[in-house]
Amino acid sequence: MSSKRDYYETLGLPKTASVSEIKSAYRKLAMQYHPDKNKDAGAEEKFKEISEAYAVLSNEEKRKIYDQYGHQGFDQRFSQEDIFRNADFGDFQDLFRSMGFGFGDEDDPMGSMFGSMFGMSQRQTGRHLSAQVSVTLKEAASGATRTIEYRRQAPCDSCKGSGAKPGAGFKTCSQCHGRGQVQQIRNLGGFGRIATVAPCPACHGRGQIPGKECDACSGKGYKPKDEHVDVQVPAGIEDGMRLRLNDLGETGPDGPGDLLVRVHVEPDERFERDGEDLHVQVPISYTLAVLGGKVKVPTLDGEAEMTVPAGTPSHSLLRLRGEGLPRLHGTGKGDLLAQVIIEVPKHPDARTKELLRELEGEGEPKDKKKGWF
Ligand SMILES: [Zn+2]
Ligand SMILES: [Zn+2]
Repeated sequence: MSSKRDYYETLGLPKTASVSEIKSAYRKLAMQYHPDKNKDAGAEEKFKEISEAYAVLSNEEKRKIYDQYGHQGFDQRFSQEDIFRNADFGDFQDLFRSMGFGFGDEDDPMGSMFGSMFGMSQRQTGRHLSAQVSVTLKEAASGATRTIEYRRQAPCDSCKGSGAKPGAGFKTCSQCHGRGQVQQIRNLGGFGRIATVAPCPACHGRGQIPGKECDACSGKGYKPKDEHVDVQVPAGIEDGMRLRLNDLGETGPDGPGDLLVRVHVEPDERFERDGEDLHVQVPISYTLAVLGGKVKVPTLDGEAEMTVPAGTPSHSLLRLRGEGLPRLHGTGKGDLLAQVIIEVPKHPDARTKELLRELEGEGEPKDKKKGWF
């Protein structure tokens, strides 16, 4: 579960806030909490919090996903780096410049600014890996398991990732004196400096140095490995969604990155999907449309019986509640919307023709006993 505060609450905005309201709320709070102006304990954390909320809510696509899935669903899809990547802080360059921020990396000025402020890019975790799996629509409804096979730098089994020869013991790191952290003073473009705590680069935050290096991984703590990973695809998944498998990416000196699995939901021959709802076309006869009755409708699990009311026009939508897909972050299921299509017989037999002519005639049917009305 995420312990993060609601992004709207963080910026003091209602869920209906416009882009310009979001920008002006962020500007006000950024001036208030900028760690170089505000020396209160927690100001830096607060500045990060409002910047993150702004980065998400100012991006149409990210905001939509946040609105739909909340923090938990959002955090499954986006890492901290993802959140700040391509975030639109363009309107605040003047503000940040006036505060003394430099813009070192021209490709991603804000990413590098927040990276250097919050120590995000200080840790040398391995890079994220990506993979793709496909499921059928039926599996998207029920949930499915897929096995992904790939090769990566994985934590060394012999030393459990410590890099130390088992049994050879450890020495206290001389650089951080065993604390695992070092304080770093960062210069923010000549205007001010902030102190941040970062993992010790000598011992990678462990506080200890191996007495002897592990033979299996030459002391790195990781080595190549063929992985077989079972991925649980949750019921209700939509095409193109990404699942994040923590720590299953490449391993670096500070631990592994993540494995990001994109799920492709194969199109279905019978059903069209619309979120949690399914659409299907059901051919019915002219008589059934006029007189009403029951018709069998295909469902993901088999078939269901549906009542067609008397006098149903062609292309009407009839709803079968709960026959759609489960809601990914919620309870219950969507509906099946059956569109009835009246089929016109291409080669009616003599009897049918006769009846239809009677029906079409201005007068009464010749034989009342066999008439339709
Ligand atoms: Zn150290
Ligand atoms: Zn090892």
